[in-house]
Amino acid sequence: MSFIEVLTKTNISQIADSIYHTSEQDVKQILAKNHFSISDFPVLISPDAAPFLEKMATIARSITLLRFGKAMRLYAPLYVSNECVNACVYCGFNIRNTLKRRTLTKAEALTEAARLHAEGFRHILLVSGEHRDKVPLAYFESLAAELSQKFAAISIEVYPMDTKEYQRLAQCGVSGIAIYQETYNRTLYKTFHKGPKADFIYRLTAPERAAEAGFRELGLGALLGLNDFRIDMTCTALHAVYLMKKFWKAHIAISFPRLRKAAGAYTPPAPVSERELAQIIFALRMVLPDVDLVLSTRERSVFRNGMAGAGITRMSAGSKTNPGGYALKENSLEQFEVADTRPSAEVASMLQKKNIEPVWKDFDRSFLSGSS
Ligand code: SF4
Repeated sequence: MSFIEVLTKTNISQIADSIYHTSEQDVKQILAKNHFSISDFPVLISPDAAPFLEKMATIARSITLLRFGKAMRLYAPLYVSNECVNACVYCGFNIRNTLKRRTLTKAEALTEAARLHAEGFRHILLVSGEHRDKVPLAYFESLAAELSQKFAAISIEVYPMDTKEYQRLAQCGVSGIAIYQETYNRTLYKTFHKGPKADFIYRLTAPERAAEAGFRELGLGALLGLNDFRIDMTCTALHAVYLMKKFWKAHIAISFPRLRKAAGAYTPPAPVSERELAQIIFALRMVLPDVDLVLSTRERSVFRNGMAGAGITRMSAGSKTNPGGYALKENSLEQFEVADTRPSAEVASMLQKKNIEPVWKDFDRSFLSGSS
């Protein structure tokens, strides 16, 4: 059974009822437990749980320490193109924005990657808008094949693909995918997306195809600000549980893209506060103790500092969200405005001061040798 069938059968009204018709007593009962399950999530994410944030932070911190130790894995996004055929209402790369477009040549992308490598990064995330003509599969194959000589892990955040296409990328050294569903509400999804991305099911099932193709890391997320975040995050958590059960060899990661100002000045219809984001992170850590929780530079440095060790296990650092933003010093259109502008070394230093080890390389392909 695909996750689309699971989602279709999920009783969203019942989930909403658990979230919005809970009580302080329900929250206290759950917080008194030693182990938490996915069925606790709606209560932990509820408005009634908000006053218990400190207690949730303490629990999330101890689970993080137990499962991940005092380590923070660092990665860097490499934007290779800001060209896109879609018109997602919230995005700076929206085809209707007439600002400067750019797709890096392979040589340029390698120059950018060399800068990130020199900074210490060994996990790189290739990001592009969705434009199959400008950035075809062969582009990523060729680039990944070269990057895999230097980087221990390569992930992609690009247009969704078929299983065979993911297989081709896996053969070139790509091992992870990040593909955010934006919202799990099918009706709302249609109102935000125009172009090929409007195909809700094709996007929703992309992590399954990537897992079938052999990707070992599957990154999920909902774009916070589009819909009731409590419902969308519950669906994200269910999606993670589904993938963990079906593809037990794959590692699941959840990111928290929160809508911020982009070219086109979109105002999110359901904004999420930092305090609410913290509640999401703590609640997820409690019910999904082994899932990587990822925080990008969309968030302010002070917030990221606070979340390090309190649930978050992976961070980007020193990010540029426009193609050519690192070594080429391009002034091209960026996808979103970075809030934490610190160089990666400064982020690493902040972590060390908190007694958290910055990990630049969390995987080596030699780990796979001997495995079938
Ligand atoms: S969110 Fe992705 S698909 Fe949509 S406009 Fe931006 S880059 Fe294109």
